[in-house]
Amino acid sequence: MTNERRQAINDFAGKIRELFAVATDEPIGKFGDIVARLGGRIEETSKDYLYEQVVKKSSESFTIYLDKTGAYSSEQQRFTTAHELGHLLIHMGYGTKNWDSVNIGDNYNKVLGIYSIVEEEADEFAAAFLMPEEGFIKVAKESSNDIEEIAKHFNVAVIDAKKRGRCLGIWGR
Ligand SMILES: [Zn+2]
Repeated sequence: MTNERRQAINDFAGKIRELFAVATDEPIGKFGDIVARLGGRIEETSKDYLYEQVVKKSSESFTIYLDKTGAYSSEQQRFTTAHELGHLLIHMGYGTKNWDSVNIGDNYNKVLGIYSIVEEEADEFAAAFLMPEEGFIKVAKESSNDIEEIAKHFNVAVIDAKKRGRCLGIWGR
């Protein structure tokens, strides 16, 4: 991913956060509410969705399918949901004209898009949506770069906070 593309995705994630009036140093609240306010819904499934946590266009709007077998922590589920919102908003064009050309049932998932650029972009969106640069830097400073505390603050997994900090150049790569 080019730096320009990365920056554009971060800016876009910031705009989406603004819709929900969440300050950059505050955590995103319940994803059920976020998704509902965007007009979609979350469905938990215990089917073999381990490799298929996806967002799909539905006849009414969109549905994000999450695994409920307990294979993932709630923090991981939040990241996954944000990742799927990335696909929805960036790649499927939800809320734009492009959405019209998406077929019902169309989706992005990690099986179909093995570590492709779209996966990288959805991860970047998720990280930026959950941990905006400005807020992340502020919280990191306040906690003297205590990674556990930063992760807890943004309600994300420690590994995702670590990656974000590395990506933002706060600590060593
Ligand atoms: Zn994906």
